[in-house]
Parts: sequence; C-alpha cells; structure tokens
Amino acid sequence: MEKVLCILLILLLTVDNVSFAKTVNTNQPYTYENMTNDLERINQEYGGLKVKKIGETHFGKDIYAIRLGKGKKNIVLIGAHHGREWITSMLLMKKLEVYAAMYKREKKLGPFSTDILDDVSIWFIPMLNPDGVAIQQNKLELFPKKHLKKVISMNDGLDNFERWKANGVGIDLNRQYPAGWRELSDGPKNPSYQFYKGNKPLEAKEVRALTKFIRTINPEIAVAYHSAGREIFWNYKNGKHLKRDKRIAKKISLLTHYRLAKPPKHATGGGFTDWFITTYHRPAMTIEVSPLVGETSPPLSVFETEWERNKYVGLSLAREAKLLLKQK
Ligand SMILES: [Zn+2]
Repeated sequence: MEKVLCILLILLLTVDNVSFAKTVNTNQPYTYENMTNDLERINQEYGGLKVKKIGETHFGKDIYAIRLGKGKKNIVLIGAHHGREWITSMLLMKKLEVYAAMYKREKKLGPFSTDILDDVSIWFIPMLNPDGVAIQQNKLELFPKKHLKKVISMNDGLDNFERWKANGVGIDLNRQYPAGWRELSDGPKNPSYQFYKGNKPLEAKEVRALTKFIRTINPEIAVAYHSAGREIFWNYKNGKHLKRDKRIAKKISLLTHYRLAKPPKHATGGGFTDWFITTYHRPAMTIEVSPLVGETSPPLSVFETEWERNKYVGLSLAREAKLLLKQK
C-alpha cells in the first residue's frame, strides 16, 4: 500500500502542469488541415480566441491570425514563412493551446503569469505559407494539374519536395519585404524552390496580407519563427535602438539557450524582421529553432526539446512590451 501511494505521489509530482492541453498532435507532420481543425477545437475548449482571416494564398487558402488576450496593445508571433519549416506552425499552435488553457484557468506558466494577456494580447500567425507547406509535404493533389509541371521545374526537375521553401508560385516569402530588397542579388533570377526574391517587393499575396495586417494591429514587438540553427537574429543595419533590442534578444536567448547572431557586416535584407525594424523602429527577432538539418524540415524528434526552450517566449515578450510601453 505504501508503495502504491509512493508511486502515486511521484506521478502527481512529475505530471507536467500543461498535460491537459492535448489538442495539438506533435507526433506527425503538421499540415494546414491539422491547424484549422486544432484552431476550432482549441476555441471550443477554452474560448476567448479571436480568429481572423487576413488574406489568401495564391492557391486560395485562407491565412489565419489568432488573438489571445484582452490587451489593447499587442505583440505578434509568425510561423512558416517557409514551406519546409512547418515545425514552427506546430510550435505556435502548441503555444496558443497551452497559453489559452492557462489563461482560462488564471494560472501561471512556469514563472510567467498569464494575467499579462489582460494588458498585452498575443497575435499568432501559425502558418503564413500554407501552399509552400503543402508542396513540401507532397500534397500536390491540392494544386491545379497544369501547375504541377511548373512546381517540378522550379524544383530542378526533382519530384521529391522535402527541401521546398518558397510559396506556391516559387517566391521566397522572406525575401519579399521592402527593406534592402533591391540589394538582394545572390538568389535565382526565376521562381524556384528557394531564394527567388520576386520581380518586386510585396509581389507575393501572403506578404501583402501580412504587412497589411501588421499595419492594422501595430504590434509593439514582432517575432518570425524559422528553422533551423538555434539562433536569434535581432538587428538590421545597426538601427537606432541597438541597446534596447539586444537587451530583449538576450532575454530570449537566456530562455531558449539559442545563441544571439553576430550582426553581419553586410545585412542581407528583404526579410520580415528587417522590414519591421526599419518601419516601426521597434524590436523584432527571427528565431531559428532546431539544430541545423540541411535543406529539409527538422525531424519530429526535436520538437519536445524545442518546445521546452520556447514555451515562455510569448509571455516573456508580452511582459517586455508592457515595460516598453511604460517607458514611453
Ligand atoms: Zn525560414
């Protein structure tokens, strides 16, 4: 009997305080359909989400932004600019679910109180590039037949798409923003599975939808999640607020144990973070999850570790946003 009690006690003590948040299945590749189903279920279970369609992809998929919290001010977390980086969608959906669950129960997550969401809301955009994710996951039946030949030719004739990074029409969404776009000269000159910057900035519908949405919500801090490399990029062209931005990036580095990227001598430009920093003069970060894996999606086996490293990032940045607002 004593033994049984002992085991029970150990079980109770080791149960993760978020073990009830079980909608997001992290044991299989994360698809657009998984995301839309999970969104519905999370909203049914916890409520309090504002789900907004912010635009459409080139092949007609709705792009979603979800607000959690009652705060009038906000921050934004964006996943899957790139097709092969759907693990960032999984990460953001898990984060949305866990935060929604804790917020409803008025509980803390580790050292972070979800009360902060009464002051600062978090907007989640888990999957900016559903077309690219679908191609990477080999779901070619979702595209018009006549487009398939093009997809294969943009992939150098290969019918294995695991390295696919671009959107559905072969534009690299993180080389599309009007910040140093002109100087981007190292990529292909035509649509491709990666690195094609397009004919002009904001040509891709996904990027137009996102920039328009960002203008309407006017966030205090923005994060774009990518893979891979366990690294945080936090500045662009030595802007005015280096000290402030480095201090905030350092906090995220301490939480995630990802290294802070050294500011490069020649900024590459064209990325979301570059655009946000130059447009708003507010902090933005590109967070690269997972160890380096080459030109493919990180394996599911890294998810748990990356989740543990990233689970406080949203609440921590909401707190930073509130502090920044106080200083104004
Ligand atoms: Zn990326």
